Amino acid sequence: MEHQQIQLLYNLRSIFFDHMELENGNIQYDQFVRTMLAEIKRFLEVKEVTLFKCDDWKQHLFIEASTDSDLIEPDYDSKTLYLNLERAAGRNYYYNDYPFREFKNYQLILPLKEEQKVTGLVAVKEKVPGSLSSIGAETGELLTKECTKLLETALNIYKVVMEEKRHKQLFKVTEKFHSSMSMDAVLGEIIDTLQEVYPSFVYYLMLSHDNNNHENLPIKDLEYDSENVAAMQAYVTGTIQFENSLTEKKSVLYAPLRGKQGIYGVLQVIAPNSLVFPENEVEFITLLANTAGSALENAQLYQQSKRLISDLQLINETSHRLNSNLRLSETITYMKEQIIKSFDAQETGFIFLLPSGDAKPLTGSSAFFQTKESEQYIRYSKERMDIDQESLFIGDVHLQSVDVKMRYRSLMAVPMLQSNSLRGFAVVLHKEPYYFSFEMFKLLQSLIHHSSLALANSMLREELEKLVITDHLTRLYSRNYLDEKIYQSMEEDEEGAFILIDIDDFKKVNDTYGHQVGDEILIQVAKLMHGNIRETDIGARWGGEELAIYLPRVPLQVGVNIAQRLLEKVSELSKPKVTISCGVSYWKRDSIDNAKALFKRADEALYLAKNSGKNKVLVQNR
Ligand code: GH3
Ligand code: MG
Ligand code: MG
Repeated sequence: MEHQQIQLLYNLRSIFFDHMELENGNIQYDQFVRTMLAEIKRFLEVKEVTLFKCDDWKQHLFIEASTDSDLIEPDYDSKTLYLNLERAAGRNYYYNDYPFREFKNYQLILPLKEEQKVTGLVAVKEKVPGSLSSIGAETGELLTKECTKLLETALNIYKVVMEEKRHKQLFKVTEKFHSSMSMDAVLGEIIDTLQEVYPSFVYYLMLSHDNNNHENLPIKDLEYDSENVAAMQAYVTGTIQFENSLTEKKSVLYAPLRGKQGIYGVLQVIAPNSLVFPENEVEFITLLANTAGSALENAQLYQQSKRLISDLQLINETSHRLNSNLRLSETITYMKEQIIKSFDAQETGFIFLLPSGDAKPLTGSSAFFQTKESEQYIRYSKERMDIDQESLFIGDVHLQSVDVKMRYRSLMAVPMLQSNSLRGFAVVLHKEPYYFSFEMFKLLQSLIHHSSLALANSMLREELEKLVITDHLTRLYSRNYLDEKIYQSMEEDEEGAFILIDIDDFKKVNDTYGHQVGDEILIQVAKLMHGNIRETDIGARWGGEELAIYLPRVPLQVGVNIAQRLLEKVSELSKPKVTISCGVSYWKRDSIDNAKALFKRADEALYLAKNSGKNKVLVQNR
């Protein structure tokens, strides 16, 4: 070898080592290439040295570096050139006879090759025409080989370092994944990492039956009837799928998010302006998707077990409370609160079915169940449950009964059974359609099944208590109970009104229609009384055909109004028609008074009413 050639080799290699960063094993690739070209230019004493490289991904030829910093891309079809480049693979250097006319401005062309495949070109432009004519095969080949070797080595080092960087990134992400038990955090991390590594790509997470709200995450639904065959294929087979669109000039990759127990969705990566995904990128995305799959699985299992624990806690706590001898209304209130809290429900009602078949919302249900509007939901649930005693899980009630407009769209209802017969049911409502998840429905069923017995017991117990304190015929409270409540109220409250009621000419009713009908009249009047007073008021049978109402915390005028209203109702609605007379009395904390005196005043008022024509309300003040 000539001295000059040895000097060139020595110089090129030393440039290579000059650009190695020894502390981290990296190479300043771009600078190395530039210096190398400058050295060749100096050595050959030429005008310009330019490195063209092949981009296998985009499938074209491009200028990677040049000694002429003002050089602009020549006007050529870089794609066709790329595809035909193999034709120049046969030789190691060309002088003025390179087969592509696009390079006619360059005199010397050195094709860079890797296993017989052309990976780029070093193109040299003479300063003095013909100055390179004597370069000879030996120097040409030497230059080609040396450039190929150095560039390849530099690029490999560069790639390895990049690879290492990616794996470090992957490791960092994995660490983050596993320190997080939140699905959203995992999904967000996948997107963030990818955006950092390939900022020009577009990403979507395609999740199957996903009910959660993910803020700011690019999430698409993965549906079976989806037109997206490749996505579905990736999901079903668990393997990476590609989709290349020539018309839209993009390449799409679908990587399944795969855990140990299943596939949790598909990561869609869209690479715009490209036709094939490069291999090493595919590997990285696969690794990331797999890691994400296991992390998602962990997060899901964790959330599932957390939910199961809280479900069990809810059932356990509720059962515990129900067994602690609460009043029925307290039990219902407690259940309602639990359900509203656990299911984020808007209305919760417990409906009791009377022996007559009528549905009665139990005290403690949400106030909505006192309204007329609630009746359609109760009726709807009852009709459905009468058929098969099965629970109802309805995403949109609106669709089920098109004729009426229903404000609450989501409905769950669970029957309360006792010895296989339907005793009642719980209804849970929300205005938004499809609000409740299937898990919630299962939990509600479980909760109601666990509390049915306690609820039934509670109802029975209160029925029994009622039997003792109520009059058998009229179902009104007994005289004893009334007395007790009035004593209690005069201890605790500020005021109260008392109404004594007597049916006019009742003897005649009995005589005309018989005792049986007389009894029915009594029941009718009792029912009207019931309908005209509040839950906290006490309607009682005073004795015989005399009835009484005590209204705690009610001023006199209101008491009189109630008596007057009842009087009108009775004369309107009783059949056969009867009328009543009422005597009203009243007490107030600021004066000395007692229950006996209160009764006496009402009795006096009633006496006056009877003696002044009956069918009227009179008051006896003190
Ligand atoms: P007035 O109210 O105007 O004084 O006339 P009256 O006929 O209602 O007279 P009074 O209140 O004294 O009569 C009460 C009658 O009511 C006596 C009894 O035959 C009848 N009675 C009392 N308890 C019952 C009952 O449980 N069932 C029936 N059918 N009748 C009853
Ligand atoms: Mg009487
Ligand atoms: Mg009477």
